[in-house]
Amino acid sequence: MKFVSTRNAKLELSGSEAIVKGISDDGGLFVPSSFPKIDSALMQQLLEMSYEERAAKILSMYLDDFSYEELLEYTTRAYSRFDGDPAPVVKIEDGLFMLELWHGPTCAFKDMALTLLPYLLVASKLKLGKKEKTLILVATSGDTGKAALEGFKDVDGTEIIVFYPGTGVSAMQRKQMVTQEGNNVHVAGIVGNFDDAQTSVKKIFNDSEVKEYLASKGVAMSSANSINFGRLAPQIAYYISSYLDLVNSGEIKMGDKVNFVVPTGNFGNILAGYYAERMGLPVNKLIIASNANNILTDFFNTGIYDVNRDFYKTASPSMDILVSSNLERFIFEILGRDSEKVKSLYDSLKATGKFEIDQKLLDDSIFVAGWADEEETKDAINTFFDIDDYIMDTHTAVGASVYNDYSCELEDETPTIIVSTASPYKFAPDVLAAIGGKEKDPFKALSKLQNATALECPENLLFLKDKEEKHTLVIDRTETKQAVYDFINK
Ligand SMILES: *Cc1c(COP(=O)(O)O)cnc(C)c1O
Repeated sequence: MKFVSTRNAKLELSGSEAIVKGISDDGGLFVPSSFPKIDSALMQQLLEMSYEERAAKILSMYLDDFSYEELLEYTTRAYSRFDGDPAPVVKIEDGLFMLELWHGPTCAFKDMALTLLPYLLVASKLKLGKKEKTLILVATSGDTGKAALEGFKDVDGTEIIVFYPGTGVSAMQRKQMVTQEGNNVHVAGIVGNFDDAQTSVKKIFNDSEVKEYLASKGVAMSSANSINFGRLAPQIAYYISSYLDLVNSGEIKMGDKVNFVVPTGNFGNILAGYYAERMGLPVNKLIIASNANNILTDFFNTGIYDVNRDFYKTASPSMDILVSSNLERFIFEILGRDSEKVKSLYDSLKATGKFEIDQKLLDDSIFVAGWADEEETKDAINTFFDIDDYIMDTHTAVGASVYNDYSCELEDETPTIIVSTASPYKFAPDVLAAIGGKEKDPFKALSKLQNATALECPENLLFLKDKEEKHTLVIDRTETKQAVYDFINK
């Protein structure tokens, strides 16, 4: 399988090259040159497999410069860091299920890919005979940062720098990052929101002076953000796996269609669902759920993507995003893989903050989009807790709320899987408030939430409170480049 850039379809790379580079020099994202197909024989085979085996099999269809055995070793090691089944499907009501992706080390779905990415990256470098040090540069809306730090800490031949928005992450997310241990980890806050952090980091990736300077030190940059195909590929597996789990439990028959509802920010998670569908997974609708930063809802309903709008801070901070990087991969597909067109749209986005495509293309697509405000998000947490005895986090609740609207409006009775992206304990003060409790302190809120629900609090979050804050630097966004130099020379 070859990989091409969304902005230059003539450029061809292998899977390991795409993973090591992270992003294309032309600013585009790497995408597979075609979608491998899962036929019914393969689905039958996957049915019998463990999660680790399913993931290795699906990865091997894209990353054919790796063997299945090699990939199985990585998935086995990565998912041994999870508490039990890495991606359990929980029944909520008849026809409604939660795919819980937060049983990993940092309690959010980013662990599904970021526990695995370091293995893929180190092995890719070996295959390519690359000896330089890899600098992983991350901009985070909160959860990617911690998951990347946990994944890459003390990994030989790597250094990791995480920039988080100084005013955009929850107290718990901040605490997780500033207490990070490891000899190759660096963390700094940037004054501003996630888009400011992401833009600063993207600039560094495209700065030839930085590249030359790092090269002189034997260092090359790569990305652990969902622009890296190595982030995206492991996410495809859980869409297919959750479907197989429903077949195994007799909830659906092989070939039946299902809906997925995905709380969305950077469009990375739901894009993996789209890839699974393109591979042949029977999907009825992919439902995009946004919070008040509802640029994707507007885009899918009008064809106009316009970032000239207010930015809101919400109780689902990992979705407080206006520029959804991975949308570019979908745009590439829907425009018939015309990389010239994609390039001109994204040039226009850069120049005017806006682009437009034919709305009909979106209407005919498998996607439906909706959004939930803060009140509706809280209501969803409270209602599901009240009626179904199920406690969910604020991001998942955006999905649940959008699903409720969708199913009422369209009377669609297709079995539906809501992708649950974080442990409710990661956002405990807001979750507690939604079910009538009150506690602003995130650590006190943990025990109060545990008392109010039957769900056990993950130890990783309980122990954070007493950990030393090692990384308290906060910088202006004009200082990011200097900060990278300083970290590298430490
Ligand atoms: C990152 C994140 C999201 C959004 O995922 P995208 O891939 O950016 O769409 C949703 N919920 C949680 C908890 C997250 O950490």
